[in-house]
Amino acid sequence: MANGVDPNDPIYSDPFFQMAKRQFDVIADYLDIPDGQRERIIYPKRAVSVTIPFHRDDGSIEVLHGYRVQHHLAIGPTKGGTRYAANLTIGECAALSVLMSWKCALTGLPYGGGKGGVRVDPHSLSKHELELVSRRYMQELIPFVGPQMDILGPDMGTNEQVMAWYMDCYSMHAGYAVGEIVTGKPVSLGGVAGRRESTGRGVVFLIERALDHLKIKPADCTAIIQGYGNVGAVAAQGLAFKSGMKIVGISDHTAAFYNAGGIDIQAADKYVAEHGVLHGFTGGDVVDAAELLTMPCDVLVPAAVEGVITAKNAGQLKCRILAEAANGPVTPDADEVLNQRWDEVFVIPDILCNSGGVIVSYFEWVQDLQNFFWSDVEIMDRLYRILDTAFTAVIKRSKERKLPHRTAAVSIGVERVMAARQARGIFP
Ligand code: NAD
Repeated sequence: MANGVDPNDPIYSDPFFQMAKRQFDVIADYLDIPDGQRERIIYPKRAVSVTIPFHRDDGSIEVLHGYRVQHHLAIGPTKGGTRYAANLTIGECAALSVLMSWKCALTGLPYGGGKGGVRVDPHSLSKHELELVSRRYMQELIPFVGPQMDILGPDMGTNEQVMAWYMDCYSMHAGYAVGEIVTGKPVSLGGVAGRRESTGRGVVFLIERALDHLKIKPADCTAIIQGYGNVGAVAAQGLAFKSGMKIVGISDHTAAFYNAGGIDIQAADKYVAEHGVLHGFTGGDVVDAAELLTMPCDVLVPAAVEGVITAKNAGQLKCRILAEAANGPVTPDADEVLNQRWDEVFVIPDILCNSGGVIVSYFEWVQDLQNFFWSDVEIMDRLYRILDTAFTAVIKRSKERKLPHRTAAVSIGVERVMAARQARGIFP
């Protein structure tokens, strides 16, 4: 039998992981990384799979499956979100942990990438069941996580309350309050005001930065946003009220809307606050969700799920800026199309575009470790400075080496991870 990865391995044969690996292979070829080094860099250090039995409200027992993947621990703990989704796979967590490593390295944070979650539709659980599942998930992970080993945060399907349950569970085990085990927790537990909004605000800052680079006035622009959750809704608010853009399209998993005259974002927020979803909103024409992505606009913001820009629709995008607020919204095949169109479509790659969340999470962790809290102004100021530095580094490398923005961004991240691993050497 040959050494190496089993082609049927549930982690590495997963389409999401294959996508992350293909993206890495492009960079590894570009950086001329030798084979042995490549394997050491791309494959996660640790992938944990746990079962989560719990009592349904009706007394029946159900067993769910949870995962946590830690990509590398070369320079500090791993850091990453926790996703609750019905179709979550361990391969998807592995892929997202890899992306997270490049993101942390690009923005200069002392973390490797982590990612995890539970394979469950959170809407199918009552609040009590959600609490049971969350506590049991954390309980199962206790041997593998910690403030110096792996720090959890929110992602799709989880929120401040879930983080509070994780923190409580971990702290009960330790015997004292350990706020620094999670980020994105309530302010009353040492969370940072504005953490939930930080990813969306970072997206808006980078879009404005890109427009400035392209010498386009934000107030002259239109935007379409896919996904109306923590990231998408905040980005919509920022682009509408701070940048002065006309938001012509929004969508979530239940419906998509277009309004050439501009969607009233305040009305959309109010509708979602009352109904939980956009379905039934009357502030625009109902359109096909996939078609919304190819409708004309200056700024397109995919802020929902992976793989929505494919080889099929990448050639039809009619935006000037593609701001990848979601993780992995563009497939490698689509990337090849976009690389041909790089004069037409200015891509802000995901590992840069949505890095505001992990940057503010890093601030939260540092503050909790020191029990010393910063002002909101200080947090936003430090966030924008880090984003600006990363944006400048990506544009500089792209220009100097004539590279697409994603290749420039990921290659900076990969180089930094590689340098750290090489400096440490191989144990023993
Ligand atoms: P969320 O659960 O708050 O919101 C997700 C939104 O996407 C919801 O409105 C949902 O209805 C919508 N959606 C789901 N599937 C869709 C589809 N097929 N078409 C259209 N809309 C769809 O999640 P979030 O925290 O806003 O995360 C969104 C994306 O941003 C994810 O890719 C996540 O990994 C990434 N991200 C989030 C953060 C963060 O701080 N929350 C940080 C970095 C990256």
